[in-house]
Amino acid sequence: MDKKLLHLLVTTIIFLNTTIAQSTLEQCHKKQVPTDGKYLKLDFRYDYQFYGHYNKPFKTLAQPSDGRVWVTADSFHRSDTTYWRGKEYYQKFQYANGDLLNFENDTAAQKVKELDWEQFVVSSAKYNPALIIHTFLQKKEELYTNVETDKTIYAGKIYDSEVTLTIDHSDSLLKTLEVLHYDPFHGDVVTKLSFTHYAEVQKLSIPQDVIVSSYGGRIIDSLKVSSYEIVDEPGFSLEKPENYEYTPKPVTSIPEFKISKYNDYIYFFEFLGSVDNRSLIIEFDEYFIVARAPIRSELGEVIIDEVKKINSSKPIKYFLFGHHHQWGIGGVRPFIQEGSSIITEKEVIPYLEYVGYQPHSLNPDSQSLNQKKIKTVVVEDSLTLSDENHSITFYPIGSYTHHTDDFLITYFPDEKMVFEDDLVWIKETGKGRASKRQIGFYNAINDLNLEVETVVQSWPLYGYGYKNIISYQELMDSIENP
Ligand SMILES: [Zn+2]
Repeated sequence: MDKKLLHLLVTTIIFLNTTIAQSTLEQCHKKQVPTDGKYLKLDFRYDYQFYGHYNKPFKTLAQPSDGRVWVTADSFHRSDTTYWRGKEYYQKFQYANGDLLNFENDTAAQKVKELDWEQFVVSSAKYNPALIIHTFLQKKEELYTNVETDKTIYAGKIYDSEVTLTIDHSDSLLKTLEVLHYDPFHGDVVTKLSFTHYAEVQKLSIPQDVIVSSYGGRIIDSLKVSSYEIVDEPGFSLEKPENYEYTPKPVTSIPEFKISKYNDYIYFFEFLGSVDNRSLIIEFDEYFIVARAPIRSELGEVIIDEVKKINSSKPIKYFLFGHHHQWGIGGVRPFIQEGSSIITEKEVIPYLEYVGYQPHSLNPDSQSLNQKKIKTVVVEDSLTLSDENHSITFYPIGSYTHHTDDFLITYFPDEKMVFEDDLVWIKETGKGRASKRQIGFYNAINDLNLEVETVVQSWPLYGYGYKNIISYQELMDSIENP
């Protein structure tokens, strides 16, 4: 084919695709975004799954809410009631005139605080996507677009997140929205919203069902719109407080830390500040063992650096995270890089693999750049490691803990000492009622016939008013003579 003709053909295709892409987004905007100063008012029920620190990885608890939103192209009002553990929490959110305000519970106090606008545009989309469609249309020049036969895909960056919209050519409606954001613990987290069951009011199309799927479909929320209408005013208006200002994003820096030598082969490494966590370092003749690395990869790297300062010629042969919560496993990835074998229980290996292999493309760590295979050593009833002079044993006691199904403690028979994560809650000031975790731990020690004088706890250390080095006598008293 003639070069000129080919060039013309290619240019025409690009031109057509750009035109289709722009008009698809414009048509979608026309169909889904309220204009003329009118508000789209929706009543909804949101079935939210709260992902907390529970006994199993990815376990959630239902935290439903119902409420109402008022949406325009550039404003969003929401008032709702959340039902959580037998209580009701009332909230109002308002994004208008570029300000984001939040009002919680106490009607008398009129407490209004600024929220993170960056997350808000994205998180508002599950109630209604008008705000994000409008934001995309405003950013149309910066978008990456991909025109397919039946749909056009738009990708753009909204602050920290990479957002993708898929609009169908058949009806010019938004079908899915994908958000990729970075979580320091879980790395790349993709949340996918699917919009279905569109209804129409005054030529405006409204999705009545929204499915929110995150962590690769491990957690699924859903939103249902029960009624909708076009109105002139939002149902409330929050006053901006006099001292209103955006809180700058906290800078995530390495917290202060200290390392202390307990005896000839045991060290404690403590992160201070909000991390407030103690790791255990054991130096055997030929190698090191490290227990617990909190929060994120960077902090695991700090611990490794400090271990190397003790002795750079010995490998960190083993790492254990204690139990699967973030304060123990969050910094595991650098240990995988280091070639350490992870001492773990069998049931929690799939989660270890999730944490260890998850891409961190938005903020790469060493494991993300050059993935290493996870090596594991499985503890069944117990596992003992020893050298010429010392011996330690790991025991799984999850079933006792009332905390997590997986839970490994480290026992030092020579020192009559146990290192554990977060089971004992004895106030510095004196007695209180023993927690279920504490009683479970005490029962485990006795059932295993461990001779214990000292319990060393990993979290919390300071600022909560609880002891973190506990004598066996204190533990026993808290249960036997409270
Ligand atoms: Zn925990």
